[in-house]
Amino acid sequence: MLPGDVAMPQLGYGVWQIADDEAETAVATAIETGYRHIDTASAYGNEKGVGLGLKKSGLPREDLFVVTKLWNDAQGYESTLAAFEESRTKLATEYVDLYLIHWPIPSKALFVDTWKACEKLLADGVVRAIGVSNFQPAHLETLAQETGTVPAVNQVESHPMFRDTEIDAYGAEHGIVTEAWSPLGQGGVLTDPTLTAIAAEHGRSVAQVVLRWHLDSGRVAIPKSVTPSRIAENIDLDFVLTSEQLAAIDWMNTGERIGPDPLFFGSDA
Ligand code: NAD
Repeated sequence: MLPGDVAMPQLGYGVWQIADDEAETAVATAIETGYRHIDTASAYGNEKGVGLGLKKSGLPREDLFVVTKLWNDAQGYESTLAAFEESRTKLATEYVDLYLIHWPIPSKALFVDTWKACEKLLADGVVRAIGVSNFQPAHLETLAQETGTVPAVNQVESHPMFRDTEIDAYGAEHGIVTEAWSPLGQGGVLTDPTLTAIAAEHGRSVAQVVLRWHLDSGRVAIPKSVTPSRIAENIDLDFVLTSEQLAAIDWMNTGERIGPDPLFFGSDA
């Protein structure tokens, strides 16, 4: 549960790298399969298709949890308000359930002003919750010192090969939900022998084991696939991992990211 009694489904459907004209079908398929939480971003270029998919599902808007993100070039107070309006129009929705600052871009020093605009969107009721993505503890501390709202969520790279334990700990201490992006390591973890052995013990797939591990660790996870059978597999998680199996997956952390380091990403933008 996020602040303001906002219920966020722990498993969502990520749509990065799904083209705008494929997003309608992909999102409608995911919703039909049982997903209620969709994760997009203005940078993904598919908010219009996502909005069409939400509509195609036929579900009432309040049954869905829609997340989008503010891209780096729109950081700043007024530009954030304008970018949000653009996203809202493309998504064809009256409100967004969770609005995230996509990256901190510390070199621009605009994320505090950007956050203040997010606070205004929250106060105006056009977003139900606000959060950040790729923020490091130092950036979260800056927000804590300079603003009055703690982010509801921090969406960060997290999968068996890379997990930032400092962010997990900071989030636990300050009531910030950690959300895993690339929860399957972009597919790179799916042939790992440790995971394959655990999956065999349960008669499940590696993807299912990894997603179960995220959920049992208290993280939100947003796997992406456009293949209907995988979309279905990734939400069929009704089984139990042992504490030994969870610990074995925890031990796989190499500390090596797939994505960019948030401390430096965007510094030459
Ligand atoms: P992911 O870890 O979800 O892996 C996706 C890939 O794994 C797919 O391309 C597919 O090939 C494969 N896959 C998925 N399910 C499978 C299954 N059951 N069996 C076999 N293979 C399977 O990677 P992702 O798309 O990078 O991340 C998920 C979502 O996270 C994105 O769509 C996006 O919404 C979000 N994201 C956010 C950021 C950020 O900076 N905030 C960055 C990257 C991704």
